Amino acid sequence: MPWRQCEDTAMSDTFEQTCDYCGAKFRVEVPRLEGHEEQEEYNCPSCNKQFKTRAAYTPTVTLISARTDGRNDQYNNG
Ligand SMILES: [Zn+2]
Repeated sequence: MPWRQCEDTAMSDTFEQTCDYCGAKFRVEVPRLEGHEEQEEYNCPSCNKQFKTRAAYTPTVTLISARTDGRNDQYNNG
């Protein structure tokens, strides 16, 4: 399922993403609230690389598959 809707009035978009730094695959659940969306940050669960998206709150990240780069360093978000 590429997206789902919550039971209450709040909505969320869910998408899967592959980290372009370490290759880990994870699911990002983005809370939506019309008129209250700002730039929110979320991090790759494996290397901690930071990504941004528009959301009402900080997105929830769930790891799906492990990183594929064979390393275990952390991304330097600078
Ligand atoms: Zn990563």
